[in-house]
Amino acid sequence: MNSVTADNNSVLTCHQLARVYRQGPQPVTVLEDINLSVAAGESVAIVGASGSGKSTLLHLLGGLDDPSAGRVIVQGKDLTSLNDFQRGRLRNETLGFVYQFHHLLPEFTAVENVAMPLLIRRCTPAKAYEAAARVLDEVGLGQRLSHKPGELSGGERQRAAIARALVTRPACVLADEPTGNLDRQTADRVFDLLLALNREMQTSLVVVTHDPELAKRMDKIWLLRDGLLQPLNG
Ligand code: ADP
Ligand code: MG
Repeated sequence: MNSVTADNNSVLTCHQLARVYRQGPQPVTVLEDINLSVAAGESVAIVGASGSGKSTLLHLLGGLDDPSAGRVIVQGKDLTSLNDFQRGRLRNETLGFVYQFHHLLPEFTAVENVAMPLLIRRCTPAKAYEAAARVLDEVGLGQRLSHKPGELSGGERQRAAIARALVTRPACVLADEPTGNLDRQTADRVFDLLLALNREMQTSLVVVTHDPELAKRMDKIWLLRDGLLQPLNG
């Protein structure tokens, strides 16, 4: 068991994290003892077989699910000790999320979707739309502001989802197979963009992927197996 101490440089840390599902007759231990520390600006890949618990881990790190044991520290604050309101606020202020399926709201335009996290934190609409348009421009969608998700290609939708994750300038982006639904070439391009924004904005990046080629491009690679993380590189 390797314990990780949170240094001041760490944006996201978890200690002895465990998650046991108790739905069926037998409890299922998906995560047993996970220790991870993500430094500011660092990019981390989490790889592992289907069903190994990658999404479960990302949900815990983002405060979308509660651990059975252990702690998650986001920018020095213990997620597990916060109430729902405080946790929601910390999530909105410090984290960005990208999923395999874009989860954009179909009846809203690209700029409205991307502005949403800023409107939630009570930014004025004028400022929110201006910031959203700027980030959409950064991801190459400056000409697609008024398009609805159904009027965008798969790659464009994923880029819009990345823009939505980054519009709040989060300390850390958590991405669950963000390119898993795209063809090779589009996946490479979307991934390039994610890494470029990570470097440019000094945003930490935790990406779940089953694509070893993409994982190799991150600073660190962890393999999730049997409920534990093991390092795959230095
Ligand atoms: P991965 O993302 O690596 O494919 P998941 O984290 O989605 O894996 O799932 C890991 C294991 O936990 C799977 O065996 C899955 O069936 C189980 N699991 C996931 N979510 C739940 C849940 N809400 N209730 C019960 N079991 C779950
Ligand atoms: Mg998954």
